[in-house]
Amino acid sequence: MKSIQIGKTDTFQKRQIAILGSTGSIGTQALQVIEEHSDLYEVYALTAHNNVGLLIEQARRFQPDVVVIANEAHYTTLRDTLADLPIKVYAGADALNEVVEAEPIDMVLASMVGYAGLRPTMNAIRAGKAIALANKETLVVAGELVTQLAIEHRVPILPVDSEHSAIFQCLAGEGHNPIEKILLTASGGPFRTWSMEQLQHATREQALKHPNWDMGAKITIDSASMMNKGFEVIEAKWLFDVAPEQIDVVVHPQSVIHSMVQFADGSIKAQLGTPDMRLPIQYAFSYPQRLSLSSQRLDFSTLSSLTFEQPDPVRFRNLALSFEALKHGGNMPCILNAANEVCVSAFLKERIGFLQMSKVIEQTMEHTTFIPTPTYEDYVATDTAARRIAEEMIAKNG
Ligand code: MG
Repeated sequence: MKSIQIGKTDTFQKRQIAILGSTGSIGTQALQVIEEHSDLYEVYALTAHNNVGLLIEQARRFQPDVVVIANEAHYTTLRDTLADLPIKVYAGADALNEVVEAEPIDMVLASMVGYAGLRPTMNAIRAGKAIALANKETLVVAGELVTQLAIEHRVPILPVDSEHSAIFQCLAGEGHNPIEKILLTASGGPFRTWSMEQLQHATREQALKHPNWDMGAKITIDSASMMNKGFEVIEAKWLFDVAPEQIDVVVHPQSVIHSMVQFADGSIKAQLGTPDMRLPIQYAFSYPQRLSLSSQRLDFSTLSSLTFEQPDPVRFRNLALSFEALKHGGNMPCILNAANEVCVSAFLKERIGFLQMSKVIEQTMEHTTFIPTPTYEDYVATDTAARRIAEEMIAKNG
């Protein structure tokens, strides 16, 4: 482990962080946080799926011990370009799974997109690494397995999703006070006020314009369809050990309140702030401490009103499907996720319409074999089967 000397006797160990998905929106902001607090944190490993150009740039700047590119086609480019630096270079899914086990790593930021996050996150937990979790699909697909594994290995899972970070912040100092209700706020996305007729013709470009948050394509489409909020309901269930009935979604278009917790005495705590993902990333890194952050502050003299609405499960069917999947349990959320990944990819390629996504997801949930208590292998098989069935449904509907 690398260390720096403070005074004559104390040795302060910088926290070694591995970032899975370093070229994405969360990954790049995490690097900003590390740069701003380079006295506390150091990058041990960076991994990316495809964006080799940015990965090279990041490797030069942050000098990690290891870099991994998942897409093996980029391996030689990466190795040759970094040949002058003492950085170990690997490629492929297996390398990605193994890198998280490296002894010096203290914390793994899981910020890759989708189902691909599951295996490396589970490996990191088994290796005893603290997890900063941005990849919500990990808990959507296999929440029971992952949280159980974390308990077994006494590994904390620190939420990076802004809503869950807000809930986590509201729970600070509450000891064992039980949660009565979680009020999960949602911006409502770009189609909050659209009619069914308008949604029918919603385009890829319109869906990619989120009013408050600047994020990657997959999560932006999920936000427009409110699948993101459905996933967050499932994520909240596993992170905070509550029943589906204890989670209410509240549409709050200004995205100032990032979520709230209601306690046994009716008291509600909320966390507020400007929409800036660096805060939840940083809080996961530094918990229970708070570090300085040069973000924009909320200004109540210009903040004229905060408004709240009920979500509409008819126009945003994905939200209702998520609650259904959660209540079914077993591999149903895994089916929901696999079908959604196929649908989002098809929608981005303009192979299906916006509303068709929910239809295909619902059909996939009906047609994929239900397993009440799945093993890891069952989840892998379910993911494959559900993807195939979703593809068939898209072919039929299209
Ligand atoms: Mg979120």
